[in-house]
Amino acid sequence: MKQSVKLIAGNWKMNGLSASLAEAKALREALDGEPSAHRVALCPPATLIAQMAWALRGGAVEIGGQDCHAKASGAFTGSVSAPMLKDAGAGLVIVGHSERRQGFGETDADVAAKTEAAIAAGLEPIVCVGETLDQREAGKAVEVVRAQVLGSLPDSAGTAAFAVAYEPVWAIGTGLTPTLEQIEEVHRAVRAAMVERLGQGGETAPILYGGSVKPDNARDILAVPEVGGALVGGASLKAADFLGIVRAA
Ligand code: PEP
Repeated sequence: MKQSVKLIAGNWKMNGLSASLAEAKALREALDGEPSAHRVALCPPATLIAQMAWALRGGAVEIGGQDCHAKASGAFTGSVSAPMLKDAGAGLVIVGHSERRQGFGETDADVAAKTEAAIAAGLEPIVCVGETLDQREAGKAVEVVRAQVLGSLPDSAGTAAFAVAYEPVWAIGTGLTPTLEQIEEVHRAVRAAMVERLGQGGETAPILYGGSVKPDNARDILAVPEVGGALVGGASLKAADFLGIVRAA
């Protein structure tokens, strides 16, 4: 399916202090002057969400968190819940990023619980899936990603706004990207798994590609069938780079 309105989301990861809001403001000012046909979002660290929401109020840039707890509140020292993100000004949240699956041992069941919590809080989850290099080299990329999609989407996604991000682990932060044919193959498999899991509710949610998207490869990647946007790490930290990707969409 060709999606005309794409979602271009930036993941700042554990980067950014108050001074970094200048980049977010520069992005907003540029988009004020040249409105994009696409949705543009920034996902800063949790500490910056409220400040960024205030700084960008009234503009086109949406704001998201990078993770949320599966519970709404409780004795979970150091964690941030979906209602807290919403309260701080976020409208979206990334869940199941490979840096959380690998570094914090998050399973598909954990990701499904977080996705459910995000939806219950009125957030739009961006559910990340993607194979490791070993899995790709073993010819298992499609199988792995299908299982992640089936295991990471709760029933409630069937009637909610959400996105899936296909992010091959080996492409994140490495400068490596799959071929356009490989991206298309996996995106088609992700769509099939979304429909298998959710029926009609899985037919239209955007499937983002993530992994070393830069201004110079964004146009080709975003033109691949079933690519409904991009999840961008490193190149979202500077407004000029991120704008280059938005303009290419
Ligand atoms: C990411 O962090 O989700 C990501 C895709 O990073 P990068 O664009 O830097 O590869």
